[in-house]
Amino acid sequence: MSRKFVRAIFPGSFDPITNGHLDVIKRGVKLFGELIIAVGRSPIKNPLFTPEERVEIIAELIKDMPGVSVEGFERLTVEYAAEKKADVILRGLRSLTDVQYEFQLAMTNRSVTGIETVFIMTSEEYGFTSSTLIRQIASLGGDISNLVPESVYKRIKEQLKK
Ligand code: ADP
Repeated sequence: MSRKFVRAIFPGSFDPITNGHLDVIKRGVKLFGELIIAVGRSPIKNPLFTPEERVEIIAELIKDMPGVSVEGFERLTVEYAAEKKADVILRGLRSLTDVQYEFQLAMTNRSVTGIETVFIMTSEEYGFTSSTLIRQIASLGGDISNLVPESVYKRIKEQLKK
């Protein structure tokens, strides 16, 4: 059976990228010919990193993963996906709470350009990991070392010293 080459984009805020996101990326690599991690610019309450810094952090983490790349984008996700000639949008799921929001988003995106969204469920151990919680815990001095890759942990510590 011949397999179609599938290009996926994985859009998100990634402020910061977490072990949960990386888990979805590692699973996605096995399914898609090409995976583009797309760092959006939507405003975040108390951001930790600028979109440029987030791209730089992710680039370092994926440098040895063939077929995976990262870039920032400013437009609507569906417009960006069309520009990249992406076949699908990849999103991660942690819980039923995610499903409700993601379902609405996927339906809306499909109605605009017809693009399909593919969901990957995270490993159970990352089911409670969220960038928002990490930003809150880190800013209050809590330990987030097992929720993000080591390089990200170091960058967060440096960032909070500023
Ligand atoms: P957004 O602001 O677009 O939700 P995020 O960076 O928070 O951006 O998340 C990007 C994608 O990764 C979303 O599909 C989200 O559900 C998913 N995601 C976030 N955290 C996890 C996790 N721990 N495990 C699996 N997927 C996750």
